[in-house]
Amino acid sequence: MAAIQFHQFPYMSDNYGVLLHDAETATTACIDCGDADAVIAALESTGWKLDHILITHHHADHTGGLDALKLATGATVIGPGNSASQLGGIDKTVTDGETFKIGNHQVNVLHTPGHTLDMLNYYLPEAGVVFTGDTLFAMGCGRLFEGDAETMFNSLAKLRQLPAETVIYCSHEYTETNGSFAEGVDPANVELKTRMKNVRSLRATDQPTIPTTLSEELATNPFLRANDGGIRQHLGMESASDLEVFTELRKRRDNH
Ligand code: ZN
Ligand code: FE
Repeated sequence: MAAIQFHQFPYMSDNYGVLLHDAETATTACIDCGDADAVIAALESTGWKLDHILITHHHADHTGGLDALKLATGATVIGPGNSASQLGGIDKTVTDGETFKIGNHQVNVLHTPGHTLDMLNYYLPEAGVVFTGDTLFAMGCGRLFEGDAETMFNSLAKLRQLPAETVIYCSHEYTETNGSFAEGVDPANVELKTRMKNVRSLRATDQPTIPTTLSEELATNPFLRANDGGIRQHLGMESASDLEVFTELRKRRDNH
């Protein structure tokens, strides 16, 4: 089976969209649609024809262009069932643990509530790629708009069970801000310092820092490191639970 191809493109101020393409069956999908014109431009640049739109969650920067893109391409929309009523336009609702195919490639649906309650992530086991929407970011995690800290903590626990070499596409370029927060709470982390050097030089020339990998996140993302001794010591929370440490980190990040 030929490898599935990925094409990432920026839209709005800090969003990323991705096209997925299975050349064997000439099947193409996109992750979210905040801006129909941006997706159409990406399709024109790749020469691919859109078949499916995969929605992560209901926020406008992920769905605002849905109707226009459907109309322009005739693509079918796959997304969360519990936001179908507010969204409209979803042709096939999916839930946690379900699988479907893009061409010959299997996609596993992961429900990762916290940022929103409807949040879905899409994992392609053969490619070793996951689309984490606004749940897991490079060195960060989504703000808690609809779920509480425990909900997000459990969702991130689900993602960290994927193989460490998994490639992560998230929906926003928040890496530099996230990383500067991470440096503040995890000051002794050498891998974090090295990563931030690289991130700052990429951003200085307006290059993307996404995709990332789960192993990089395990080493540098404070929201996956609530059990880390250095972070706990910095917070004065040596004997707290992982959830308590995570909750404190999320609160501090909101005020960063
Ligand atoms: Zn969002
Ligand atoms: Fe977003």
